[in-house]
Amino acid sequence: MTSIVQLRNVSKVYPGGVAALTGVDLTIGAGELVGIVGPSGSGKSTMLHLLGTLDLPTSGTVEIDGRDVSRLSDKALSALRATTIGFVFQQFHLAPGVSVLDNVADGLLYAGRPLRKRRQRAEAALDRVGMAHRLEHLPHELSGGERQRVAVARAVIGQPALLLADEPTGNLDTASGTAVLNLIKELSGAGTTVVVITHDLQIAAQLPRRVEIRDGNLIADSGGQPHA
Ligand code: ADP
Repeated sequence: MTSIVQLRNVSKVYPGGVAALTGVDLTIGAGELVGIVGPSGSGKSTMLHLLGTLDLPTSGTVEIDGRDVSRLSDKALSALRATTIGFVFQQFHLAPGVSVLDNVADGLLYAGRPLRKRRQRAEAALDRVGMAHRLEHLPHELSGGERQRVAVARAVIGQPALLLADEPTGNLDTASGTAVLNLIKELSGAGTTVVVITHDLQIAAQLPRRVEIRDGNLIADSGGQPHA
């Protein structure tokens, strides 16, 4: 199995001495849908930052799509992030005052395509998340669930190998949350590797594999492959 994420003995100690993660081993294969679950303060955000190459481990190795992030220059790291990783956040993070279509088209800025091509791809991505009827709307004209669908379209328009979703249903009512989770499952079924960070056990229960962290330690993994 090709692994998209490989953490080996990863620890993260913040300045001041807080050990946010300790000796974490984790392998996530291509196409898996995995929940990283734990209560507040357990180390989930730290994990998200490491998986998203937004921060580096204090020790151990983080490999994303086969590349050891500690060995990459800032420029190579930005390129890896832009081409390989899509992010979805609890707060949606859409650009205000920018149409739905262009919010999604901007997800391809790094690829350097002309605007017309980016908009074509954006329209297709919005169609995929059921938002093709809202292309010219502005984010504030959408419901929370619709905003998150747009954010998912933006995250996957560049066909990233890895989609990281940080409490993607945290700001949504149950029905919208379920719809967004179903969308994420659909993307996973179509081949995208997805990691969902959540403290919500009901959300976690709907994911095929759950990795639990507590006080910076990986304490359970419902579907881990044996580590090499
Ligand atoms: P979670 O996302 O599960 O709530 P975090 O990864 O944010 O957990 O935090 C894990 C631990 O690391 C907590 O004790 C937190 O206070 C600490 N921590 C997080 N970020 C920093 C930081 N930038 N500097 C110092 N300590 C931090």
